Amino acid sequence: MGYKCVVLIKQVPDTKRITGDVMNDDGTVKRSALPAIFNPEDLNALELALQIKEQFGGHITVITMGLPAAGAILRDSLYRGADDAILITDTRCAASDTLATSYILSCAVKKIDYDIVLCGRQAIDGDTAQVGPQLAEKLGITQITYVEELIELDGKSITAQRNIGNGWQQVKAELPVLLTVTGDANEPRVAAAKKMMKYKKALTPIEVEEKIKAENPDADVADIKELAKHKCGKLVEKNLLIKQWDLDAVEADLSWCGQSGSPTKVHRIQSVVLAAKESKKIEPNQKAISDMIHELIEDKIIA
Ligand code: FAD
Repeated sequence: MGYKCVVLIKQVPDTKRITGDVMNDDGTVKRSALPAIFNPEDLNALELALQIKEQFGGHITVITMGLPAAGAILRDSLYRGADDAILITDTRCAASDTLATSYILSCAVKKIDYDIVLCGRQAIDGDTAQVGPQLAEKLGITQITYVEELIELDGKSITAQRNIGNGWQQVKAELPVLLTVTGDANEPRVAAAKKMMKYKKALTPIEVEEKIKAENPDADVADIKELAKHKCGKLVEKNLLIKQWDLDAVEADLSWCGQSGSPTKVHRIQSVVLAAKESKKIEPNQKAISDMIHELIEDKIIA
């Protein structure tokens, strides 16, 4: 037995480090000014897949759609125990909203044999939590969102506990299934030193080309392509070439990708600054504090 798991991971700017210095005047964020990290809840999704593999056996493929730099989180996944990694990168993905993103990811997942697809609940940059549910819809499979605990896996079905805000719910579903996993589901493991040694030289073809360009600044395009082809061949022999797919490889309908596949229109960006409108000074005595607490309860600020 064993389960084939596909984990969707996203490289995101570390939004915890947003300060005034990284904001543009129009309210957008200078992404390049922030460190790029593994989306936190995607680490929980990967950890759940690793636990499933440890308990029942199986195979884990991680997929990310993004810029060439997203190769870093694919390597990180291999260090933690993933078996296979795929980068989807293509300039025609630019301007994709969540609908186009989930369409492109669904085309990629359909190329792979799977029992369980795992996503993080939400990405810390886009913050919509839409991609997991949209992906399940496009794959035509059941989804269990907000998963906090895996209760049972019995070959044909899965039972999971989901957090519904004011309580928990246990849900049983037939496989294949898509789970969106919350940050409370587990404690993601750290990279294993042995696997780091093994995969630290794993690269995507585009990273190979970029590296060769940097090492041979005077070489022409044809020479770089030839050198890159040779290096990729060597990496394949050592099982260190990370797969890279473009929109042709996933057989995506281009009208569903990028701007043409994205119905979302951004009309306005508003900076919300939370600031106290008024302040009130109270005397440092029991009565004044008690009056203040009553006022806050009456205004329904505290319960
Ligand atoms: P969520 O829905 O919160 O993510 C949930 C989970 O889905 C994640 O935890 C992860 O498991 C999975 N997931 C999400 N995104 C990916 C991914 N890329 N690869 C693998 N798994 C993933 N973004 C750009 O980078 N470039 C653009 O040019 C661009 N243009 C945009 C234009 C518009 C009009 C809009 C509305 C958005 C644009 N975006 C662009 C943002 C992009 O659409 C979102 O980042 C993306 O759809 C994911 O949405 P989210 O961040 O809300 O993820």
